[in-house]
Amino acid sequence: MKTSSFQAPDFYQLDDLFTDEHKLIRQSIRAFVNAEISPIIENCAEKAEFPVHLVKRFGDMGIFGPTIPAEYGGGGLDYIAYGLIMQELERGDSGMRSVASVQSSLVMYPINEFGDEAQKARFLPKLASGHLLGCFGLTEPDYGSDPGRMITKYEDKGDHFLLNGAKMWISNAPLADIAVVWAKNEAGRIHVLLVERGMEGFTTPEIHGKWSLRASCTGELIFDNVKVPKENLLPNISGLAGPLKCLDSARYGIAWGALGAAMDCYDTAVRYSKERIQFGRPIGSFQLIQKKLAEMLTAITKAQLLCWRLGMLKNEGKATTPQISLAKRNNVEMAIEVAREARQILGGMGITNQYPIMRHLMNLESVITYEGTHDIHLLILGREITGLQAFE
Ligand SMILES: Cc1cc2nc3c(=O)[nH]c(=O)nc-3n(C[C@H](O)[C@H](O)[C@H](O)COP(=O)(O)OP(=O)(O)OC[C@H]3O[C@@H](n4cnc5c(N)ncnc54)[C@H](O)[C@@H]3O)c2cc1C
Repeated sequence: MKTSSFQAPDFYQLDDLFTDEHKLIRQSIRAFVNAEISPIIENCAEKAEFPVHLVKRFGDMGIFGPTIPAEYGGGGLDYIAYGLIMQELERGDSGMRSVASVQSSLVMYPINEFGDEAQKARFLPKLASGHLLGCFGLTEPDYGSDPGRMITKYEDKGDHFLLNGAKMWISNAPLADIAVVWAKNEAGRIHVLLVERGMEGFTTPEIHGKWSLRASCTGELIFDNVKVPKENLLPNISGLAGPLKCLDSARYGIAWGALGAAMDCYDTAVRYSKERIQFGRPIGSFQLIQKKLAEMLTAITKAQLLCWRLGMLKNEGKATTPQISLAKRNNVEMAIEVAREARQILGGMGITNQYPIMRHLMNLESVITYEGTHDIHLLILGREITGLQAFE
C-alpha cells in the first residue's frame, strides 16, 4: 500500500518560485494527507463513507478558508498557498479536496464577499475551524449547465422569506450545517440565502450509487415552505454573477487539485515500472513504458506552470473567468489521461485498491463534470475568442 513514499515531480524547478511559507504549507498538508487520509481512503471509498471526523481536522490544519482574512478565522494566505493546499489534498483524494473547495470557495468566499459584518462574524470563524460544515446549492434537477433558469424561489412574507424548490448533486449536503442557496425572488432575480439545518421543511437526502467521489457525501437540498429569517440573505450580490464568482474561485482550486491526482498517479507508475519485472527486465526499461512516463511528466510540468502563472494572476486580482476555464479544463483532462496511462503501466494491479490510480480515475469523472462541464468550459473559451455566445 502506497502512503508516505510519494515524491512530487518538479521537472522545471518550480520550487524556486515558491516562498518558504508556500513550501512549509505544502509540506504540512502533504504530511497530514500521508498520516490521516492515505491510510483510510481506500476503505472509505470502498464503503462509500465520508470520513466525517476529518472535518474538524481540516479546521485544525487551516485547510478551510486559507484566503479568508485572519480576523474571521481564515488563513490570510495568497492564492498560490491555496492552490498548493488543494494539490496536496487531491493527491490524497478528489473527494477530500471537494470538501475543502466547497467550504472555502463556495461557502466561506460568498459569505466573506457578499455578506454583512454580522453574517461574517457569526459564520466564518466556525466554518474555518470545522465546527460548521457548509454546502453550496446551485444545480437543480432540471438545470445543471443552465443554472440561470433555476426555479427555486422565495417570497417576501414581511418578517421572513418563504423558500420552495430543490437542489441536486450537492456536495456535503447530507451532513452540512448550513447551505448557501441560490434562489429567485418574486421579480425573478437571483439572490443567495443561508439555510440552516433544523429549519422546518428543509431536508437533505443523500444520493447513493455513485461510482465516483465515493468518499465524498453528495445529496439533494429540498425546500418545502422553509421560513428563512431575513437576516440570512447575503445583501451585497444579486444575479448570476454571484454564483459564477464563487465558481471561479473553486475552479481555480480544481486546476491545482487535478494536478495533485495526476502527480500521485505518475509517481505510482514510475515506482511500479522500476519494480515490476517482465521478460527478465524492469518494465521501465521498455521504450513504450518510457514513452508513457515521458508524456505524463511533460503534461504534468505544463499543468504546473499553468497553475503557477494563474495563481500569480489571482494574487494580482487579474485572473479572468476564461483563463480559469482553460486551466480547469486542461488540468482535469490532463489528469484523466495521466491516470489512464498510469493504470495501464500497472497492468492488472492498476484496477485494484492496492494502488490509488483507479480511485483517482473514477473520481476525476466527476471533477471533469462538476463546476462547469468540460464542454461548457470549452464554450466559455470559444466565446472569449470569437466574442460570440454559443450556449445560451
Ligand atoms: C459528484 C458531484 C458533486 C457535485 N457538487 C455540486 C455542488 O456542490 N453544488 C452544485 O450546485 N452542483 C454540484 N454538482 C453539479 C454539477 O455542477 C453539474 O452536474 C454540472 O454543472 C452539469 O450539470 P448536469 O449534470 O445537469 O448536466 P447537463 O447540464 O444536463 O449536461 C449534460 C451534457 O450536456 C452538455 N451540454 C449542456 N448544455 C450544453 C450546450 N449548450 N452546448 C453543448 N453541450 C451542452 C454538457 O456539457 C454535458 O456533457 C455536482 C455534481 C457531481 C457529479
